[in-house]
Amino acid sequence: MWLRHALCLLTIPLTMSLPPQPPSFDLAIRHARVIHGDGRVTPRATVFVSSGRISRVDTTPAADAVPARRAIEASGQTLIPGLIDAHVHVESWSAPLFLKYGVTSVRDVHNAPDMILPLSRVDSPAGPRIVAAGAMLDGPGSFWPNAIVVSDITSVRVAVRRQVEAGAGVIKVYTRLSSSMIAAIVQEARARGVPVAAHLGRATAVEAAIAGVTSIEHLSGVADAASSDRERMKRAHDDFLAGWTAFELEWLRLQPAALEQVARTLVERGVTVVPTLALHEAFSRLVDPDLLKDPALADVPAEVVQRAWAPVDIMTRAKWTPETLAQFKRVMPVLQRFVTLYAQAGGRVVAGTDTAQQFVVPGASLHRELELYVAGGLTPAQALKSATSDAADLLGIAARTGTIQAGKDADLVLVSGDPLADIRATRRILNVVRGGVVVR
Ligand SMILES: [Zn+2]
Repeated sequence: MWLRHALCLLTIPLTMSLPPQPPSFDLAIRHARVIHGDGRVTPRATVFVSSGRISRVDTTPAADAVPARRAIEASGQTLIPGLIDAHVHVESWSAPLFLKYGVTSVRDVHNAPDMILPLSRVDSPAGPRIVAAGAMLDGPGSFWPNAIVVSDITSVRVAVRRQVEAGAGVIKVYTRLSSSMIAAIVQEARARGVPVAAHLGRATAVEAAIAGVTSIEHLSGVADAASSDRERMKRAHDDFLAGWTAFELEWLRLQPAALEQVARTLVERGVTVVPTLALHEAFSRLVDPDLLKDPALADVPAEVVQRAWAPVDIMTRAKWTPETLAQFKRVMPVLQRFVTLYAQAGGRVVAGTDTAQQFVVPGASLHRELELYVAGGLTPAQALKSATSDAADLLGIAARTGTIQAGKDADLVLVSGDPLADIRATRRILNVVRGGVVVR
């Protein structure tokens, strides 16, 4: 200690005669427990940031003497990589919410291309980094008026080429496409180096895995593949919402052996599952008396909560009754167990929520997604990996983010407590850093 004082005294005349040296780092987060996102944990380190990047992760006592323009004392706190939500639909109001909850990257799997593709080219601390699909590809008669309808090889080639040239980082395929159409889309997308995300209906998860899709969203097509009544399931997808209801309820009837066989096939084919359990749960809770008591709703525009998310609207369109939703609740633990089974079989699970669907709040819902994984049997470390390094791999942004290591963008979340002991600690956010800028 006396030495440092002595050095300070010595430097006074120098600083009087020389221009002061600027600190070499923009930000130092000192003495935090660092969860790197790839399985490594450093019990105590200082993370230095400059020019938007992580400069170094320093575990030596000498780090204390290294100056930075801004320092955050983080003893007893935990630094995790910026979180990634791999299944979202960005809204005009959602960017600040993602950042507030530590979500610094998202994958948008269907939106208005004119809005989302230019946004995906912007890399700014004002919002999360976006990897976007543009508009989804679907078959004739799509539920979504803004889907790109493809019906033959020629239209597939044109659609995929246009999307990729416009900046799409993923191609999204939807429920009305047959397995042969999905195979044609995968072939075209692969030739352009772009992965395919699938919300399945007419094609099962096994068919889509054989066709070569990269990720399966919502666990769609899994119950269909394991079902003993394949034809009834296939017909149900003639209507989008009836198809959702059918595959959701089918989980209650599946034979465990059939489900395990489906999981094994998907693992063998290297398919990533993006479960969106937060969405499955939100649908199941639409008539819960405490639905509007979620404090996260305070940040959602009132007209969205009252109009776009009105439970009566989707329940009428989907022909759901309170009894249907009660059955959806019984499905939840079955889905949660499947996620664990999939991970234990060596499959990759990546966290996604499907925000901003009804009552799936941007940012907040990703923390719920992780809690549901852990409640279903994943370890907190596995859950964190699903929203950091594994998610970055899926999005094709692993060179930039997803782990805390020198050279990566400084996308960081400082939380109190230890998420590896209790995953709910990811909600106790103290600071969020996006591209080196402290945004919270
Ligand atoms: Zn979606």
